[in-house]
Amino acid sequence: MKVNIKTPNKTYDITIKKLPRLTLNAKTAVITNPTVAGYHLNYLLNHLKTDELKIITLPDGEEYKNFGSIEYALERLFDAKYDRNSVIIAFGGGVIGDMSGFAASIFLRGIKFIQIPTTLLAMVDSSVGGKTGINNKFGKNLIGSFYQPEAVYIDTHFLTTLPKREFAAGMAEVIKMAVMFDKEFFKNLENDKLSIEEIIKRSVEIKADVVNKDEKEKVIRSVLNYGHTFGHVIENLTNYKTYLHGEAVAIGMVMANELSIELGYLTAEENERIKKLLKKYDLPTSFKIKDEEEFYEHFFADKKTMNNKIKFIIPELIGKYKIIENIDKETVLNVLRKFK
Ligand code: NAD
Repeated sequence: MKVNIKTPNKTYDITIKKLPRLTLNAKTAVITNPTVAGYHLNYLLNHLKTDELKIITLPDGEEYKNFGSIEYALERLFDAKYDRNSVIIAFGGGVIGDMSGFAASIFLRGIKFIQIPTTLLAMVDSSVGGKTGINNKFGKNLIGSFYQPEAVYIDTHFLTTLPKREFAAGMAEVIKMAVMFDKEFFKNLENDKLSIEEIIKRSVEIKADVVNKDEKEKVIRSVLNYGHTFGHVIENLTNYKTYLHGEAVAIGMVMANELSIELGYLTAEENERIKKLLKKYDLPTSFKIKDEEEFYEHFFADKKTMNNKIKFIIPELIGKYKIIENIDKETVLNVLRKFK
């Protein structure tokens, strides 16, 4: 299965099948972490033929998604005298993918890179679309670039070792795309009609379509933030310790649904269907808000909150999104009070 992605500067394929033999006539660096390398590096190397090969292993964890890791990776490339024609392979989840893409975008002002995602989240979301970046003390993903890979290879073989909770966090992003864009896809997820490859393909198609229309997140790409406006606040309030990102997004979707109900769009039954699908993957759907004013204030710490205006992405119904920009504080507080 193949999905083509077209941005103003680059067109490339996302291939969903067993990893083919890749022959690269270039010095190549695989950037990965010890967890992924431990399980799957041999498998990758068995499919790879390159001029020269370097494995750059960065520590595992979101807390290492920073300049220190980028500097370390770039220095290894300079040590080995890599050049403009060299290639980086991102081999891991979203953290490795975002960092490898960023490193590729700034090494000698940009070299080629290939994504081989190993988590479901990276397969359906972060490896598609060319957003790269790192965190700093001011927040997540505040430093980075839009930089598209040469190709993305998705092989579901890697999912065999992925912990169940990580798999579910990826499913939260899948469900997000179905609710926003495709009611048939949502129904098929409800009825277990699709193989994991088909689920990934449809998600990638949706994301690719959004990116094709709006690479730099002017309007439509922001629809992918459904659940994220609330989710980011939850991650913040819990110091990024209690929930995986996808789990916070799952709760955030339910909050966005409540806002939609409050505004007279989504029905309570549709909200229940979405919750049921989230619960099928053991994703959380509730959260206790201690102080709704404090929760509300946190919306303004988000980099996506522009000119002090909060933009909410809500489902008008399952399969159709709505962007809400001018909403009074009291309406939002009313929704937040439902989670007390
Ligand atoms: P992750 O990369 O931290 O991976 C989660 C955990 O699973 C890690 O411990 C990892 O080592 C392990 N792992 C990876 N593959 C495995 C496998 N096959 N078997 C067993 N363990 C495996 O997290 P993630 O959820 O993949 O990605 C989250 C990151 O993605 C965040 O930093 C987020 O900002 C970013 N993101 C980026 C975009 C984008 O558009 N660029 C979109 C969404 C998320």
